[in-house]
Amino acid sequence: MSQFKIASLDNLIVQLSKLPGIGRKTAQRLAIHILKGSHDYAEALTGAIVDVKQNTRLCGRCFNIAEDTLCSICADPGRDHSKICVVEDIVDVMAIEASNEYRGVYHVLGGVISPLAGVGVDDLKIRELLERARTGDIGEVLLALNLSTEGEATMIYLSQLLKNHSVEVTRIAHGIPLGSHLEFVDQTTIGRAILGRQKI
Ligand SMILES: [Zn+2]
Repeated sequence: MSQFKIASLDNLIVQLSKLPGIGRKTAQRLAIHILKGSHDYAEALTGAIVDVKQNTRLCGRCFNIAEDTLCSICADPGRDHSKICVVEDIVDVMAIEASNEYRGVYHVLGGVISPLAGVGVDDLKIRELLERARTGDIGEVLLALNLSTEGEATMIYLSQLLKNHSVEVTRIAHGIPLGSHLEFVDQTTIGRAILGRQKI
């Protein structure tokens, strides 16, 4: 066992290796990069981390990430507020926005119904979605959940609930491989899937 130990560097490596996709070796490389870098960079990095925790919250309407009461999409009068795209997570909003094919607004469910993982209807923002469909001037609800077994089941469940409201329910399907997560699908495919959405 090596006696070489620098507590502060080791601590940074431990913290970095907790990030998804970062193994011990990568964490070590990043930590040494930060160690050798300027003070200004280290401060900008820590500042950005603290900032993102302090200055963000969930949008009061769609549960996307926001820096104000509403997210920048909900607050944008240039968006089509009669169309709601329902997604599992904030990363899906980012993936769809990157495709540049969607001008409506969103609703972030916070997951999908998954009895095995202990996620039930009440753990998701389903009640809030129905409330928006009921009270808002909504023409279309586009279901864009990941095409996993749970995602499919949740889309069927939502489409049945939404049938009681006078909205058209559509879903993306075209070109998205079964079982795939939207965040890993390329922008062109997501764009095509949105344009080719089907009525349920
Ligand atoms: Zn919002």
